[in-house]
Amino acid sequence: MGAWLEETAAARAEAGLRRTLRPREVGDPVVDLASNDYLGLARDPRVVGAGAAALRAWGAGSTGSRLVTGSTRLHHELEDALADFTGSPAALVFSSGYTANLGAVTALTGRGALVVSDVAAHASLVDAARLSRARVEVARATDPETVDRVLAAREETRAVVVVDGVDSVDGGVAPLAELHAVCRARGAVLLVDDAHGLGVRGDGGRGTLAEAGLAGAPDVVLTATLSKSLGSQGGVVLADRAVVEHLVDTARPFIFDTGLAPAAAGAALAALEIVRAEPERVAALHTAAATVAASARAAAPGIDVPAPTAAMVPVVLGDPAVAVAAAAACAEHGLRAGCFRPPSVPPGTSRLRLTARADLTADELALVDQVLHKVLGAALAR
Ligand code: PMP
Repeated sequence: MGAWLEETAAARAEAGLRRTLRPREVGDPVVDLASNDYLGLARDPRVVGAGAAALRAWGAGSTGSRLVTGSTRLHHELEDALADFTGSPAALVFSSGYTANLGAVTALTGRGALVVSDVAAHASLVDAARLSRARVEVARATDPETVDRVLAAREETRAVVVVDGVDSVDGGVAPLAELHAVCRARGAVLLVDDAHGLGVRGDGGRGTLAEAGLAGAPDVVLTATLSKSLGSQGGVVLADRAVVEHLVDTARPFIFDTGLAPAAAGAALAALEIVRAEPERVAALHTAAATVAASARAAAPGIDVPAPTAAMVPVVLGDPAVAVAAAAACAEHGLRAGCFRPPSVPPGTSRLRLTARADLTADELALVDQVLHKVLGAALAR
């Protein structure tokens, strides 16, 4: 590789952007506000048990592409359950949310089409747009007027507008009803990545599309990950049956990828059943998020900590080194906090991202309060 590798690493170090992998240990005595296990289901014995049963019944891997040997009965049951829960006509499970986005965007666009991609769209949507060979217009796609202007000015017949239902960094909810009205009037498809909305927003966690009254709308495509509120792994595209059939025939990240591991499918299916049976988990998540936000606000009165709309509570500290130091100080006190720096967030907005969970106990929330008071005061004094 030559000097290039060292030089780029040094430049990242200089900018405070080196990253470290820190393995978790079983039974780590930390309060975890960094994971995406929003409903506390990843370690739920029923979810783990269903995953283990699937592992025993079907083996460690799915053994092939979904089109060859990689579709088990479990995958189909999971698709039916996800479609039913979200109110979508049909579903297609992928090996991750990342590949679900790659598959949906590339298969529905291509040369001669337009992708209107939100400035804050998740990296998987950005990469999907790049891979699609469509013309890509990066715009404030959560703003209906902007979307209307971009769609009106286009020459392409086919257009797909891609947005996150819930912003992955600050939890903002996209105005989907308004966006859909614009897309429909302009003959475009609205693709909503609900990675952070499924299990979190809408009645019983049915997601942002259901919340906007758009479940099952024919010109809407929903994507989601099974790795956050469902505590498992995998991704899904929910849409009209014709769209799903199109993906089965043409989506390269579906066709050329090994199907989701049966254990992950079984675990996700069990988790979905729990979300359905125990909607109080969704309410508990929102209560916990409000409590964490109140602690952060009290600990750092100078920082604007908005009322949470989803699981995440952003605490913007500005400088990446300050954010890294604050996260490290939290860890020393037994609190694992997410730390977001560029390119995940714009320069100057490095932050702690505290993620609430439905299963946080009163003792854990008290510890969060104590640690934030210790750490944020010191971080702001720097
Ligand atoms: N979309 C969004 C908005 C996400 O936050 C993520 C996960 N970080 C993904 C897609 C990708 O999902 P997965 O982790 O299942 O690949």
